[in-house]
Amino acid sequence: KEKKVAKSKEGASYDIALKNTENGVVTRFPPEPSGYLHIGHAKAALLNDYFAHEKYNGTMLLRFDDTNPSNEKQEFEDAIVEDLALMGIKPNKMTYTSDYFDELYDHCIKIIKQGDAYADDTDKETMAAQRWDGLPSQRRDLSPEESLARLEEMKNGTPEGLRWCIRAKISFDCPNKAMRDPVIYRCNPAVHHRTGSKWKIYPTYDFACPIVDSMEGVTHALRTIEYRDRNPQYQWMLDTMKLRNVQVWDFARMNFVRTLLSKRKLTKLVETGLVWGWDDPRFPTIRGIRRRGMTIPALREFILKQGPSKAVTNFDWGLIWATNKKYIDPIAPRHTTIFNKNVVKTTVTGGPATPYSEEKPRHIKNAAVGMKKVVYSSSIILEQEDVKLFKPDEEITLMNWGNAIVRKVTTNAETGIITDLELELHMAGDVKKTEKKVTWLATEGQDLVPVELVDFDHLLTKDSLGEDDVLEDFLNLHTEFREEGLADCNVADLKESDIIQFDRKGYYRVDRAYSPGKPAVFFNIPSGKSK
Ligand code: ATP
Ligand code: MG
Ligand code: MG
Repeated sequence: KEKKVAKSKEGASYDIALKNTENGVVTRFPPEPSGYLHIGHAKAALLNDYFAHEKYNGTMLLRFDDTNPSNEKQEFEDAIVEDLALMGIKPNKMTYTSDYFDELYDHCIKIIKQGDAYADDTDKETMAAQRWDGLPSQRRDLSPEESLARLEEMKNGTPEGLRWCIRAKISFDCPNKAMRDPVIYRCNPAVHHRTGSKWKIYPTYDFACPIVDSMEGVTHALRTIEYRDRNPQYQWMLDTMKLRNVQVWDFARMNFVRTLLSKRKLTKLVETGLVWGWDDPRFPTIRGIRRRGMTIPALREFILKQGPSKAVTNFDWGLIWATNKKYIDPIAPRHTTIFNKNVVKTTVTGGPATPYSEEKPRHIKNAAVGMKKVVYSSSIILEQEDVKLFKPDEEITLMNWGNAIVRKVTTNAETGIITDLELELHMAGDVKKTEKKVTWLATEGQDLVPVELVDFDHLLTKDSLGEDDVLEDFLNLHTEFREEGLADCNVADLKESDIIQFDRKGYYRVDRAYSPGKPAVFFNIPSGKSK
């Protein structure tokens, strides 16, 4: 199990605790099915899972917060379930806020009757201004009977009803603006993906969350720190409706530089076609980072190590990729690729008269990774960039073979590009003493595999978008870099999602396995150094 791996790794220890756990622990992860999970959601999900399943012997609920039918889709719900499974998270139970629409409605009636909520038809802008200025709504003193009559119209979706909403009567001028009579029910005539057109009104998150938390037996509600101002409001809901208490545990929201973590904005990029889809390797979705080569133990370690910190951090991607490298380096098989562009045809004098091959380890320090075939021949290819630096009669090292001396370099006089090279094999030479160690591939005795190596840049040109920044102004339009090459014959056997290292190039994940006539496609996995 991946969980165990993460814990057994040196340095992967974390200890995060909850208070008041004597009577058990029930946590919940409440995503809205309005997009695919991103790395920020992963933090929330992993923390809920950690407390329920690793730290305490508790229960974790997956609750779909499906209270806004305009955004929600079955497709997203299915993807969320799959992505949690991918992360090794197994919720004990799957629930829906929509399962409680009847009870929520009853609670709404109850607090209106109590005089703790009222119907309001103040227009949006005025309401926002009044809330900002701490002024009461004109409707604040509507009688319960009148408010209930409006609620009925809202429920029936009448033209009059659609103009109204229900607000909790907490305070109109509390210094904490979250307490200024928040909306608890609003109309939406859109068809709900589960309840169809049964309802024309939907509870807000502020109203539904404490009620459903309480009803479902949640003991500890994990919320990101930006909700802190809303904690008194959450408590007010529980108290006013005389519901079982739930403890709120705040944790830091996680952000990354030059990265969007908002389903709404990610949806926009998917819809405009700037990326290939929700699983684009440039996307911070679970699918995207997996496709880029992130491993689950690394994701878990990185997130849980942040522990209970409440400092909102704008992480550099380098940190998490460096964690990932720790996991992939010891097990990634080593292979060789040579870029096609201006490849240098090389003759090795003193090389084998006929090609031959040897079985060599795929990873020098880890025999468990297995063996590969290395082919030796007197016809090989080298990369232009390497050969350009060779000096006449210099002794260089052909990696994993031996030393050779540069004898003849043929350059195209017009272009200045080196086309041919002659090396003289010098097996007696000391590989430790050469300055240049280059990759090469035999062009005889094996079928070289055509490959495409793809690297990516961030989608944003700015580290962090401010409130007033327009997304379109900061989109990086050149984020994909593709190079063609040839790889050793063993690469033909790699499968989609295998992770390897190409010598001197870096770590790569197979996005498309090789098939005759179609190159294998590799995505560069950042190693955490530069990006
Ligand atoms: P988004 O803006 O991407 O839609 P959200 O908070 O509206 O995010 P939800 O589906 O409501 O999305 O979130 C589910 C859970 O994930 C919530 O508990 C939320 O606090 C948490 N969450 C969302 N984004 C982050 C983040 N960047 N860091 C940590 N937790 C997050
Ligand atoms: Mg939300
Ligand atoms: Mg959001």
